[in-house]
Amino acid sequence: MFSYRHAFHAGNHADVLKHAVLVQILEHFNRKDTPYWVIDTHAGAGLYALDGEWAGQSGEVTEGLDRLLGAPNPPALVERYLRAVQDFNPDGVANLYPGSPCLALHAMRAQDRLRLFELHPTEGQVLEDTLRRQVHAPRRQVAVALEDGFAGLKRLLPPPPRRGLILIDPSYENKQDYRSVMQALRDGLQRFAQGCFAVWYPQVQRIQAHEMVRALERLPVDWLNASLTVRKPAADGLGMHGSGMFVINPPWTLESELRAALPWLQAALAQDDQARFSLTTGAARGGAGKPPAPDGKPADAPAGHPGPARRPAARQADQKRSPSRR
Ligand code: SAM
Repeated sequence: MFSYRHAFHAGNHADVLKHAVLVQILEHFNRKDTPYWVIDTHAGAGLYALDGEWAGQSGEVTEGLDRLLGAPNPPALVERYLRAVQDFNPDGVANLYPGSPCLALHAMRAQDRLRLFELHPTEGQVLEDTLRRQVHAPRRQVAVALEDGFAGLKRLLPPPPRRGLILIDPSYENKQDYRSVMQALRDGLQRFAQGCFAVWYPQVQRIQAHEMVRALERLPVDWLNASLTVRKPAADGLGMHGSGMFVINPPWTLESELRAALPWLQAALAQDDQARFSLTTGAARGGAGKPPAPDGKPADAPAGHPGPARRPAARQADQKRSPSRR
């Protein structure tokens, strides 16, 4: 159960989508002074060395973040994400990749709070060390619980300011995760109906993955579903060909930001001609939601970029791979 290490996947195409959405949601939250909480049920190690042993071996970042660095004319959502990544790489070279805890902390103000769960003891220890020693997170602002995030979430809802983002980002290594996500949402929405819940999901050839997305779309809530497929599904049925973010009670700016960004991301991250995106929404009342936006065609991408520079190319993968996200 404990073989998953996010370090293998740090900065891959799925992290790009997930973290760009995370940064965008918090940018919107910051428009009001009212405090909020971020609860990250599956926090990971927090910060990853892209030239380190694990990320270097998998090379997944070369099909993710690396493709964005230096790419011309990034849309605003991508630009915000790249600026945040850059702030963890002050020397201008992208050697460190901030995971969701670091990106959340980066966006938050003094009045906001971050609550993190991580079940893997080693990852949890690294996370705590990173937050204290590298990021210097204020103790009163951040708390890490080395326990099951699905179970722990219940006691934190609703958060005291009644304003918050709950990021649910399991590895789905265990297929029970698909059911646990739905249960956590049903419980969570009873306790905190107005909360913004963001669920990351993989596009894999597994029935539970498809069923979970359909079940999410049937929830009687306002939702937004953004997915980015980067390649055709593998003939052997293995691996991840894309991912999605399902956001309940999305900030109103998220849909338009994603509509502008997804064609660009598709063009930047496409691995073959099957790459595409989808952006759909649904409403709590009246249910049907808006029709899907047409899947995008690769966008042209002209000049100027924020973000750190590309690292020297050398790290492309040889063979050691972690378990895939499925
Ligand atoms: N959210 C992180 C980010 O975006 O940077 C990545 C998290 S990674 C996909 C999933 C993490 O959840 C792994 O570090 C894994 O050890 C941890 N994990 C697995 N099951 C868990 C559970 N039930 N509760 C909390 N953490 C769990």
